[in-house]
Amino acid sequence: MHSSSFLAALELGGTKTVVATGLADGTVLEEIRFPTTTPDETLDRAIEWLAGKGTPASIGIGAFGPIRVDPESPDFGSLLATPKAGWSGFSLVRKISAALPGVPIHLDTDVNAALWAEVAIGAAQGARDAAYITLGTGIGAGILSGGKLIHGALHPEFGHLKVPAAPGDSFPGVCPFHGNCLEGLASGPAIAARWGKAAAELPPDHPAWEMEAWYLAHGILALIAILSPSRVIVGGGVSQADGLHAKITDRLTEINNGYFSADMLESLVVPPALGQEAGIKGALLLAGGA
Ligand SMILES: [Zn+2]
Repeated sequence: MHSSSFLAALELGGTKTVVATGLADGTVLEEIRFPTTTPDETLDRAIEWLAGKGTPASIGIGAFGPIRVDPESPDFGSLLATPKAGWSGFSLVRKISAALPGVPIHLDTDVNAALWAEVAIGAAQGARDAAYITLGTGIGAGILSGGKLIHGALHPEFGHLKVPAAPGDSFPGVCPFHGNCLEGLASGPAIAARWGKAAAELPPDHPAWEMEAWYLAHGILALIAILSPSRVIVGGGVSQADGLHAKITDRLTEINNGYFSADMLESLVVPPALGQEAGIKGALLLAGGA
């Protein structure tokens, strides 16, 4: 393909990177997935793959953060202080624009991209107030309020909320900044460090999942108190554990203690309809200016 009739998309996650060509409605034409390593190695691989496809009309990027997503900022597209080795200060936008001169870049957080796709064509269609929480190497949330993706001065950092310790949990947490914030207690690395086994190896009846639901429910209760969303999508690798969404709803109902209506909570927390494709489809939708 060598015309500009196609769009490009890059989903830069903490663990994996997805690069795709596709259309403005989120249709993926071709894609490649590989592990996220160093900035140059990861981006060079993405750029090399895209170079074989011709020049896209524009590129949408959903990136892990913290990253400057305000196009007016002098460091637009740069990663800020991140525990991910080698990425702090790296300018994603500079690297991409050098490789694709003149191609418009639409950048947002990976979680906002995933949320955008779920709102347009997935589990939150029609919602004007919604969140997409990802559970993986880190924890983050994309937030939609009044039909608009929220950025704020930087962007929301849901994963760094403080949450009360689960009964019997003395684990100090793995966040290098806060220790026992939500991400420090409930991310994939936190689960692995606490239980000595990767999340994917823990069976559905393992106590790790009740504890995971405890932490997520407290985070989501805070989100409800501030945002009043009609949908909270919980996605990301760790969310694929059998029965986790129901456990979160049960715990949320319990700690809510009757304040918000049971009807509201019952259908609030759902898995992504687009599965592991939400982020890359969202990046395509962003590229299309949706
Ligand atoms: Zn933290």
